[in-house]
Amino acid sequence: MKNVPEYFGCMVFNDKEMKARLPEETYNAMERTIRNGKRLDIAIANEVANAMKDWAVEKGATHFTHWFQPMTGITAEKHDSFITPKNGTVIMEFSGKELVKGESDASSFPSGGLRATFEARGYTAWDPTSYAFIKEGVLCIPTAFCSYGGEALDQKTPLLRSMEAINRQALRILKLFGHDYPSVKTTVGAEQEYFLVDKNMYDKRKDLLYTGRTLFGAKPPKGQELDDHYFGAIKPRVAAYMKDLNEELWKLGVLAKTEHNEAAPAQHELAPIFSTTNIATDHNQITMEIMQKVAKKHGMMCLLHEKPFAGVNGSGKHNNWSISTVTGVNLLEPGETPYENAQFLLFLCAVIKAVDDYQDLLRISVASAGNDHRLGANEAPPAIVSMFLGEELDEILEAIENETAYDAKEKVQLKVGVHVMPRFAKDTTDRNRTSPFAFTGNKFEFRMLGSANSIASANIVLNTAVAESLKSYADRLENVDNFEEALHSLIVKTIKDHRRIIFNGNGYDDEWVKEAQSRGLLNLRTTPDCLPYILKEKNVALFENHKVFSRTELEARYEIYLENYCKTVNIEALTMIDMVNKDILPAVSAYIKALGETAMLKKNAFAEVDCTYEEKTVKKLSSLSASMLASAERLSASLEEIGKAASTADAADSFKSVIIPEMEALREFADEAECITGAKYWPYPSYGDLIYGVQ
Ligand code: ADP
Ligand code: MG
Repeated sequence: MKNVPEYFGCMVFNDKEMKARLPEETYNAMERTIRNGKRLDIAIANEVANAMKDWAVEKGATHFTHWFQPMTGITAEKHDSFITPKNGTVIMEFSGKELVKGESDASSFPSGGLRATFEARGYTAWDPTSYAFIKEGVLCIPTAFCSYGGEALDQKTPLLRSMEAINRQALRILKLFGHDYPSVKTTVGAEQEYFLVDKNMYDKRKDLLYTGRTLFGAKPPKGQELDDHYFGAIKPRVAAYMKDLNEELWKLGVLAKTEHNEAAPAQHELAPIFSTTNIATDHNQITMEIMQKVAKKHGMMCLLHEKPFAGVNGSGKHNNWSISTVTGVNLLEPGETPYENAQFLLFLCAVIKAVDDYQDLLRISVASAGNDHRLGANEAPPAIVSMFLGEELDEILEAIENETAYDAKEKVQLKVGVHVMPRFAKDTTDRNRTSPFAFTGNKFEFRMLGSANSIASANIVLNTAVAESLKSYADRLENVDNFEEALHSLIVKTIKDHRRIIFNGNGYDDEWVKEAQSRGLLNLRTTPDCLPYILKEKNVALFENHKVFSRTELEARYEIYLENYCKTVNIEALTMIDMVNKDILPAVSAYIKALGETAMLKKNAFAEVDCTYEEKTVKKLSSLSASMLASAERLSASLEEIGKAASTADAADSFKSVIIPEMEALREFADEAECITGAKYWPYPSYGDLIYGVQ
């Protein structure tokens, strides 16, 4: 293997390749499109397509695909070969038309009713801002996926729209501060947590196979209580995996940077260097896919579920987010001069206002049946959205709000745009790991995302909500006589109006739940609790005003999210019933039989032999079997009942309030039985086998 700089990005049709392979004019047109979102005409697209194809064929590719992100949470691809018949043989061809637009049968992707069944077509449209790449001999072209009516059927379309929205508004604000930048982008670095388990063990567990998480499993004697895994030495088998994973990701141009063990045994994390939001989103999808693929090569399975195991930490994803000019000026970086400080404070306030005004949307953006197991379970932030700014920044805001001196020594009122804000030390360590939304020096870290979530949803909301704050500021400031006065009072007003969202204490504490309630913050604990908020008028207005979603698109998404929740829980419940009936009850019976036979043998052979163990265990297991059976029957009946629900929303509520508690009850009986059943008889690898199985 060559050294990293030599092979980094070798499977990506990146800037270097374009420069080398495209005529200068074409290259410049591409550059303008990538940097400033200018439209590309078909003649240029033809040249780009041809160069892309030549490059791909040289790398051994035979097919191309429009690679897209439907609402399934994973990516989709349909391969077409480059072959075109010519004089009895074939040549490899790829046109601009094929590059720019593809047709796709949309009928098998979730559309939430957007696509009436008779109109099965959807189309994919090239996103030239994200480089094409080769995966498994296929040229993958990142695309957006829409219905023929133009409605978004994917995550990419609204994400790109939200980036345009924040670009428009941020440029207005920057103009007020005397800057004329061509464009502004949001940047994201997504830290990804995952578990690795041995594939042989995985294959024996129907629950992992069908649902991605264990639905049964007694606690092992040792969990994560010794904290001996976090940042611990990486085991050789995992190290070999990480090495391979990094190489695969680097070839695809993914800036994989940091790797370490996480809190739970068998849990690990990978963080990339941040990039532009749509690229970070594509790269996170690629990362998740490659993580799973490379694991199989190493005889392991990579679990991306938010809660693969009860009793140890689940997996999340930290979405580090900032806004930057196209020239690389980070707008959330505190400045050196009073004017820069004022600009920084205004952008900071825009985020504070956005997070408070659209708490509900942020909560929805991370909602899934899987993530419901983590949020508020003392291992992840609660379902309440709040912000952590750090003590120093908080004191500065307080001084501005109260028009008092920030520094007791200085005795001067801190006035925005006039005084230099005191420099505060940037602390990149997690000062408050319990906060769902923390300022970390020059970016915000949104920590509520689940490990399997696409990061698109969270960033669509963040971009759009901050665009709205910036819009309201620009509307207010654009025609004032005294800019500094107006700016100051706007900042003071924002701090006053939105102070409730700032919380520096322990987010895992029960006290916080009470306090948050008294502050009027939302606590939307589960997916069915939060989803209806998506259609609140203020939220529809937000997305419509910024042209990110139409009302119809939002209604469709609401339906898709609800359906997804119902289907997920339904599959889990059915899997449990299947496991209990086909594996667990028969296994327990077999063990009861063995114990019974042993007791009989003992009694026949010896007169007064003690059979306490056999008798007690048989009794206990028999009673647990009866409870399991009754519980599984109840669960089946409840599922049947939900089949009659009047709406998807009603069904989702029943899954939450009836099915999940019944699943938990069933699990308790089974886990108790596992603890007293001979290991040889239990039909599945234990938690201990799974979480300590990779050495
Ligand atoms: P920590 O390890 O304390 O969470 P790091 O500085 O290592 O903080 O960053 C964590 C993630 O944040 C990385 O993926 C990093 O690339 C990303 N990040 C850093 N700066 C920015 C930024 N300006 N915008 C978006 N993400 C960023
Ligand atoms: Mg972090």
